[in-house]
Amino acid sequence: MTCACSIIPPSVLKRFADDPELSAELRQQFYNAIEIDNRIRAVRQETALLTTLMARHNSLAGIVPVAVAHAPLVTVYDCKHHMTLPGTPVATPGSSADPTAKRTFDQTSEIAKFFQTIFKRNSVDGAGMTLLSSIHYGTKYNNAFWNGTQMTYGDGDGAVFTDFTRGNDVMAHELTHGVTQHTLGLAYADEAGGLNESLSDVFGSMFRQWQANQDANTADWLIGHDILGPTALAKGFTCLRDMSNPAASHCLSPQPIHFSQYRGGMDPHLSSGIPNVAFCRIAKSVAGKSWLGVGQVWYDVLSTTAPRPNMLMLEFANATRATAKKLHPADAAFHAAVDAGWKSVGL
Ligand SMILES: [Zn+2]
Repeated sequence: MTCACSIIPPSVLKRFADDPELSAELRQQFYNAIEIDNRIRAVRQETALLTTLMARHNSLAGIVPVAVAHAPLVTVYDCKHHMTLPGTPVATPGSSADPTAKRTFDQTSEIAKFFQTIFKRNSVDGAGMTLLSSIHYGTKYNNAFWNGTQMTYGDGDGAVFTDFTRGNDVMAHELTHGVTQHTLGLAYADEAGGLNESLSDVFGSMFRQWQANQDANTADWLIGHDILGPTALAKGFTCLRDMSNPAASHCLSPQPIHFSQYRGGMDPHLSSGIPNVAFCRIAKSVAGKSWLGVGQVWYDVLSTTAPRPNMLMLEFANATRATAKKLHPADAAFHAAVDAGWKSVGL
């Protein structure tokens, strides 16, 4: 396994760490980010394992998590450029003079509202779990991650990447890793890892489209467009990933677009391009708001399937085919759109 549950893949961090056009200081920031990712991965794997064990224990003991009716509490902690999580609590983040604290509170509250109103889900665990985000992690840290219990955001180096809280899709991507951990429980390797990463991009992109009130055919489907700094923009990049065109040269992290390109052990940040482009094509074919049509099918599979840590992409594809028929029994065009989208990527 070569990935932490972060938004920037190790291959991109490595490329900039080795980029002779960057200053020694900027390159050192990328080396630091690689080292931190390695450490986070160990923590996240342990926590995800505990979530699965606890769910199994509760299920055997007949314990059902008590659902909290109100919206989840949204908390923001300030690492003040240290690396001890979670940091110091920000007293009233919604009215903080620190734009990063205020943005983190406002957007995390919006993501909670998105899951609540669109998918009827109360927080990450479905039972109102408090949402905890840490900001100003490390010094010029070039990444954001979910570590199994919370979201964490770096400030970026200001050259290649800006403050990671500027990406509303980045924030929804990280929070969705928590949702996946508490539902399908997908591993972070092989095909399941690609599905895990893709689900975070799918819900991250849908959140971005929901905030902008965009239809599937007018959305740009870019991931990480708002966190690129001047150095990345000057090199011609416009995003981290593009769900409508994952292999494009304007992506910092170009991806495979067909299952025939999948290889065992592939970085989940790469293999996610396959289900990403399938979702995008289906959403465009169904047309309208992605979160009302195909998004409901994806969420139903995510939330009603028993934990499947090693789920294969074809198994996920077939689950969405069955769910499309369950949710829209009389809509043959909808079934055909889902089927054609997956077939177009070889699944
Ligand atoms: Zn991710």
